[in-house]
Amino acid sequence: MKTKIAKCKKCGRQFKYSETGNIWPGGKDREDADCPYCGETVFSRMTSGFINVYKLEDDEEE
Ligand SMILES: [Zn+2]
Repeated sequence: MKTKIAKCKKCGRQFKYSETGNIWPGGKDREDADCPYCGETVFSRMTSGFINVYKLEDDEEE
């Protein structure tokens, strides 16, 4: 599973996210990536899969 790092614009913390499932552009469902700390929707995209978000451990934050 490929994980990426995103940064929340609202609280400024970083979190990991991954996309799972059969992903292709233009899927008919919109998935939101919500900040695991404050719940802000950081981004959303049309995908056929799912977006999971994870908190970073403290020592992983940059
Ligand atoms: Zn946040």
